[in-house]
Amino acid sequence: MAGVSENAANRLLLVEDSVSFAYAIKAKLEKEAGLEIVLARSLEEANEAIEKYDAQFFLALLDLTLPDASGDEIVLTAQARSIPSVVFSGSYSDELRERLFQVGAIDYLIKDNPHSLNYVVSLVRRVRANTQVKALVVDDSATARAQLTKLLRKYRFEVIEAPGGREALETLTAHPDIRLMITDFNMPGMNGHDLTKAARQKIAPDRLAIIGVSSVDAGPLSAKFLKLGANDFLKKPFIPEEFFCRITQNMEYLDQLDALREAALRDPLTGLHNRRHFFEMAETLWSQGHREGGRVYSIGMIDIDHFKALNDAHGHLLGDQVLKQVAQQVSENFRRGGDLVARFGGEEFCVFLSETDEAGARAMMEQVRAAIEAAAPPPGPAGAQTRSVTVSIGVAEAMDAPIAETIAAADRALYAAKDAGRNQVVAASASEALSAAPSAAAS
Ligand code: GH3
Ligand code: MG
Ligand code: MG
Repeated sequence: MAGVSENAANRLLLVEDSVSFAYAIKAKLEKEAGLEIVLARSLEEANEAIEKYDAQFFLALLDLTLPDASGDEIVLTAQARSIPSVVFSGSYSDELRERLFQVGAIDYLIKDNPHSLNYVVSLVRRVRANTQVKALVVDDSATARAQLTKLLRKYRFEVIEAPGGREALETLTAHPDIRLMITDFNMPGMNGHDLTKAARQKIAPDRLAIIGVSSVDAGPLSAKFLKLGANDFLKKPFIPEEFFCRITQNMEYLDQLDALREAALRDPLTGLHNRRHFFEMAETLWSQGHREGGRVYSIGMIDIDHFKALNDAHGHLLGDQVLKQVAQQVSENFRRGGDLVARFGGEEFCVFLSETDEAGARAMMEQVRAAIEAAAPPPGPAGAQTRSVTVSIGVAEAMDAPIAETIAAADRALYAAKDAGRNQVVAASASEALSAAPSAAAS
């Protein structure tokens, strides 16, 4: 990846001599962004930290005035090792702003502004998120491409270049995870408008942000970019500050849409996939196996025992906590690519296991059952002792039968497990044999 190694992706250099400010920022970034913060209180300490970590920081936050440095010395130090920097300053002036961007800072903050702390957190998050974002730069001029690429890399984007519209379309196909395309208008062969139109026929605006750029008078040209599906337009020459603001806004918009999409697929209490999404994903996995000549899969239905009694005795809040705990234990046990875990309703969970037969599924479910029984239950209100939580599980395998049928079979096995005394795993083959025998069914 461009400039950021795996272990640097979470590490930030903070150079600040004011102890209270440094610790406020450090605590906030560690808590809210989960970062590793390396703190230096002077230019000398900053140099030591840069040596120690071989400049492997995804970003540096730099105070301009240090006991052993002033002016832009600290910024130049970070710059020399290609660490993008955001600068804190006690005061603002146009000249200062100008100079900071000139020496390559990506942004600046005024310290005494009460919003600074929140701004710094969102800025840092953004730059870190960019390390996971692929951007495509399209321009027939190699110089213009290099300029944009350099700018995007400074904000930690991973950048791919294309010299024209056709190449850009090929690149979009080869890299479906590209989230940002910046395209020039005036290019031989296919211009920016035609490229935007063609790209939009394949990729929706909530998956790929397209930004048009041109030095030509913006009026009708920019309007046409937007009408053809571009998310934004920038007139050249632009200042890096404006460039970054626009890119950021567009990326955040895409992230928000992702979060909404993701939330619609999950159960808010446990974070597991919901029933609807489970069916969609399981159907896809099943039809894949089906096409390939039929592959065995299994379903496990898990239901907490006497959950109503637990709710009644200790309250709904404790019930919710138990649900979360069980959800976590179930999902911890099924992490393979072909496994799916969902909360199906109230206190019921469903597991889909690709390429697993009934005996295999039974063995795995037995492990889950035992782990849940062995775990300490969360303490009740006022530390009250709660009984241990147990689950009953039904398992069924299938090859050609559709998911819904297999779920029904696993559900019948689950009821057999409840009837047989709970806290156990019953396989469909056994439960069907059981219900066929009249004496067993009578109990
Ligand atoms: P069995 O052993 O036969 O499964 O008995 P049970 O009490 O577990 O089953 P029952 O279906 O009678 O009761 C399920 C309870 O789950 C009733 C309902 O209030 C509770 N429940 C469902 N969803 C939630 C939830 O989101 N949070 C909490 N705390 N309780 C829930
Ligand atoms: Mg139950
Ligand atoms: Mg139930």
